[in-house]
Amino acid sequence: MRKLIVSACLVGFNCKYNGKNNRCESIVKAFRRGLVVPLCPEQLGGLPTPRPPAKITEGDGFTVLDGKSRVKTVDGSNRDVTISFLRGAYETLYAAELLGENCIACILKERSPSCGVREIYEYKSDNLKEGMGVTSALLRRKGFKIVSSEDKEEIEKLLKELL
Ligand code: SF4
Repeated sequence: MRKLIVSACLVGFNCKYNGKNNRCESIVKAFRRGLVVPLCPEQLGGLPTPRPPAKITEGDGFTVLDGKSRVKTVDGSNRDVTISFLRGAYETLYAAELLGENCIACILKERSPSCGVREIYEYKSDNLKEGMGVTSALLRRKGFKIVSSEDKEEIEKLLKELL
């Protein structure tokens, strides 16, 4: 059966860094029908919830994958959480690869340092910049179709394809 991998917070799981969610009704509807596999890379990477917010220090997820940048908390402690972000990205890839051709796309939460598709936050400010999160970058690099949670038209199209 064909499926979509989705950021778990879009289904309403309270897995965000602040213990909240990003519930999206069309994704919830698809979940009820068994069409989506919800995953939270940061929880899969072993991070607790709630947890300190974190950002990519330079570049984006691809830069982190290449070992040229880090992910650090921005709560004042600047703790390096790169290993957890990478572990979560590879665990998500594991699920996508198990599904193989049955994974028609991954719908990921925009602007997250793991799941961001078009934009992420700059490390030293609240400004946005172009770039992908660590998990999105890994899935894209491995050839999976990545869709932003904000691309509503594309999401509707994919859901229709599954029904
Ligand atoms: Fe987890 Fe991704 Fe949602 Fe962040 S955006 S809470 S990493 S699923």
